[in-house]
Amino acid sequence: KSATVPKGDGSINNTDEDDEEDVVDLAASSLLNKLIRQSLVESSHRVEVLQKDPSSPLYSVKTFEELRLKEELRKGIYAMGFNRPSKIQEMALPMMLAHPPQNLIAQSQSGTGKTAAFVLAMLSRVNALELFPQCLCLAPTYELALQTGRVVERMGKFCVDVQVMYAIRGNRIPRGTDVTKQIIIGTPGTVLDWCFKRKLIDLTKIRVFVLDEADVMIDTQGFSDQSIRIQRALPSECQMLLFSATFEDSVWQFAERIIPDPNVIKLRKEELTLNNIRQYYVLCENRKDKYQALCNIYGGITIGQAIIFCQTRRNAKWLTVEMMQDGHQVSLLSGELTVDQRAAIIQRFRDGKEKVLITTNVCARGIDVKQVTIVVNFDLPVNQAEEPDYETYLHRIGRTGRFGKKGLAFNMIEVDKLPLLMKIQDHFNSNIKQLDPEDMDEIE
Ligand code: ADP
Repeated sequence: KSATVPKGDGSINNTDEDDEEDVVDLAASSLLNKLIRQSLVESSHRVEVLQKDPSSPLYSVKTFEELRLKEELRKGIYAMGFNRPSKIQEMALPMMLAHPPQNLIAQSQSGTGKTAAFVLAMLSRVNALELFPQCLCLAPTYELALQTGRVVERMGKFCVDVQVMYAIRGNRIPRGTDVTKQIIIGTPGTVLDWCFKRKLIDLTKIRVFVLDEADVMIDTQGFSDQSIRIQRALPSECQMLLFSATFEDSVWQFAERIIPDPNVIKLRKEELTLNNIRQYYVLCENRKDKYQALCNIYGGITIGQAIIFCQTRRNAKWLTVEMMQDGHQVSLLSGELTVDQRAAIIQRFRDGKEKVLITTNVCARGIDVKQVTIVVNFDLPVNQAEEPDYETYLHRIGRTGRFGKKGLAFNMIEVDKLPLLMKIQDHFNSNIKQLDPEDMDEIE
C-alpha cells in the first residue's frame, strides 16, 4: 500500500477506505512500540512472583555482576548501555539462568525489559562450539522476529561464534542444508515446516524455547496450535519461556498448555487516570465549526505540542489539509502508513519538528510523547454500537499518576453527541467543563 501524504498544494487523495476507522492491529502496534521505544518503561508496582516450588529460595539480583555471566556477554550488556537489571529482570534473570533450568511465564507491559532478558538467557546457554540450533524463539511476525534478532546481534556482539538464523517466509534454504546457526528465530508456520517437513532443525537438541508476544500470537489464526506442536517435540529438559505484554484469560490458558511447571512473574501496568487532566468541551454545529473552535483554542492559549484525534481517515485528512492551508506545521498519522513510516512520523513529532499530530485510532494507545500537554478529540471515540468507547477515551487522554504531567483535553462536540459526552463524564466520575471558544480566559 502506498502512503497518503499531502501534496504540495495541500490536497490529499481520498480513497474508499477513508470512511473506515483504523483498526488496531496487535502485531503492528507491538512493532511500532519497539521502533519508537527509547528507554525502559517504569512501573511503580511490585513484581509478583509465583514459584512452582514455593519452598525454594527466591533470588533476585540488583546487578548484572551477581549473575556471573560469561565475560563476552557481560561486555555485550554494558556495551548496550545497561547499568543494572530492570525491575522484571531482577526477578526473572536468576530464574532463567538457574541450574537446573526453570520454566517461566512472564507478563509485563511492552518496554519493561522482557526481550533483553530472554536474549540474555539464550546467549548464556548457547554453546558456540556446537554448530546446530540450540535456542528457538517463536515470534508472531517476520518484523518482530527481526527486531528480536537485532537484540541478539547487539547483545551477542562479543560472542563471536554465535549466530542467528531466521525461520521466516521467504528465507529459502535448500533441502538437506546443514543448519549450523545456534539461535533460530521465526514464525510458527515456517518453524514447523523447517522442523517436520524439511528436517532442517532437530527439535530434540533445543535447550531454550522462547515464545514471545504470546498475546499477539494467539490472536493469529493457527499460531497457537502450531506452537504447541513444536513444543510437544522438544526434549523434557529444554527450558521453556513465555512472554506476554497483557494477560487476559485466553493468554493464560494458552501459557499453561504450552509451559509445563512454570514459575510465574507479573508486573502490573501503571494505571491511567484522568486526575491530572483538565477536561473541556466545546459545542459545535458541524465539522467547519469544530475547526473554527480548534483555531480559537489554538490562538487563545500557548500550546506546546498537541495531538488531535479523529474517528475516520477522511476527517483526519480533511483536518490536516485545513490546518496546513492555515500555515500550521502538522503531520498526519493514519492506518494506511507502514509501521516504519508511522515510527518516523512519531519520531519527528517527538523531536519537535511538528507541533501538531493529527491521527485516527491507530495510535490511541501506546505512543507516549511526554511533552504533549494538549489532547483534542476532534471526534469522540465511539464503538460500533455508537456508544462511547471509554477505554479509548482514557488511552487518548489519561496519564499515569506517578510519571504523568498535568494536561488539557478538549472535546469538540456536535450537539447530538452531547449525551455521549455526559456518559463519559459519568463513567469516569470526572468533570468535563463547557468552554466558550471565544473566551479562553477560563483556561489560563
Ligand atoms: P520488552 O521486551 O518488555 O518490550 P525490551 O527488552 O525490548 O522490553 O526493553 C525495552 C528497552 O529498554 C529497549 O530499548 C532495551 O534496550 C532497554 N533495556 C532493556 N533492559 C535494560 C536494562 N537493564 N537497562 C537499560 N535499558 C534496558
